[in-house]
Amino acid sequence: MSIVIIGAGPAGCSTSMFLSKMEIPHIILDKAVFPRDKICGDGLTHKVIYALKKWNPEIDKIMAADPKRFLPSRGGVLVTTDRNRYEVAIEDPENPITEMFTSKRIDFDTFLTEQLDSRYADIRFGVDVTAITKVSQGIEVQYKQNGETQSMKASVVIGADGDRSIVQKTLVPFEKDPMHYGGAIRAYYKGVTGFNKDNYMEFHLLKEIQPGYLWIFPLPNGYANVGLGTLKKYASEGKRNFREELLSLVKNHPDLKERFKDATLEGKISGWSLPMGSKLPPLSGDHFLLTGDAACLIDPISGEGIGNALYSGWLAAEAIQKAIAANDFTAAIWKKHYDERLYRTMGGDLKISHFFQVFYKMPRLVNFFAKRAYKNHLLLDTLLRMNRDDAVQKRFYSPFFYVKVIWGFFF
Ligand SMILES: Cc1cc2nc3c(=O)[nH]c(=O)nc-3n(C[C@H](O)[C@H](O)[C@H](O)COP(=O)(O)OP(=O)(O)OC[C@H]3O[C@@H](n4cnc5c(N)ncnc54)[C@H](O)[C@@H]3O)c2cc1C
Repeated sequence: MSIVIIGAGPAGCSTSMFLSKMEIPHIILDKAVFPRDKICGDGLTHKVIYALKKWNPEIDKIMAADPKRFLPSRGGVLVTTDRNRYEVAIEDPENPITEMFTSKRIDFDTFLTEQLDSRYADIRFGVDVTAITKVSQGIEVQYKQNGETQSMKASVVIGADGDRSIVQKTLVPFEKDPMHYGGAIRAYYKGVTGFNKDNYMEFHLLKEIQPGYLWIFPLPNGYANVGLGTLKKYASEGKRNFREELLSLVKNHPDLKERFKDATLEGKISGWSLPMGSKLPPLSGDHFLLTGDAACLIDPISGEGIGNALYSGWLAAEAIQKAIAANDFTAAIWKKHYDERLYRTMGGDLKISHFFQVFYKMPRLVNFFAKRAYKNHLLLDTLLRMNRDDAVQKRFYSPFFYVKVIWGFFF
């Protein structure tokens, strides 16, 4: 019996970390050699810390003690197309340890690989998986290492290989639908001014870039992650050039130009895709399962995917433990212990976010909603905590919640 994880981003590292905790030997491969960059907004919200704390309850303290790699962030800013600005403290400034951070992915992903436990994990980087083939009682993984092609047989393969997953492409061909697929670019700047003192992550719904948003996240060491994105469908309809839009906005927009006056662009502006969780591929089959971006688990409204990648890695590890106990690696075991559990724990959240996607094309409704929600404590509390508190998420299914919210909207 051999377990092979393909990809050592958040999804793959999480699977490996939890398998090691269960003392289950496995192999983890990545074509990259760490430290390596990954195009991302670099925002680590509660979901990330929630999933990591299941592995090590002290992880937030370890991150907080590493200010060169992790910057605590205690809230968010939303700027709507009518140029109203809503600042919301998501955390108590009195609490010494925050549950949200920003961290360049080159640092965060390296931090994750440092948590891998070589007593149980056979860690192999610089290994590019080039083919996946179903064979009797397993899957053959063909890979290239140091220019040589080799292969190994796995009883179970975990596809944690991101958006362009070879595991997904080969085993569950799944057409990418531009209504369920985001596109975004990221730039690093140094010297951006005007951040909230508690390092709030900023989302700007500027009228010049509708439908879509610009984000500005402060980072450790005086950097900022600045990005712009929308659904692929809208990007191609409008023949958008994100790079030009971003450069023009930071130079000319009245809310931004002062803040970027002395800022310098560091490195090049790069883009990547976001497979949204509003349409999921089959999550598993005989001898394999998919996690993270390979399973299209990105939140359809916020574009967050790291938390769900880590969480799916945890669920995958627990399913593998059950499969080993049953000595069964077929589709039926994953369906019961992985797919169904994942739908139960993450499905509601993804559906709610998908519903909020209707706002993409309705900036005026967003302006109205934001103004009212900001004053409506029940709604604000629900929106802010729905991703980290199951009891809060359940409010969405209660008719009384809507009665109270509508009442609060008008009175
Ligand atoms: C512009 C942008 C901004 C984003 N901002 C945020 C944000 O602020 N917060 C947030 O939570 N999420 C954000 N996301 C989403 C987040 O980046 C992803 O959801 C997350 O990286 C998914 O993790 P993963 O482990 O599934 O995949 P990845 O992080 O993509 O890791 C996949 C790994 O697999 C390896 N791999 C791929 N193919 C092979 C192969 N053939 N052989 C061997 N190894 C292979 C890769 O080298 C890589 O290390 C953003 C995404 C984009 C594009």
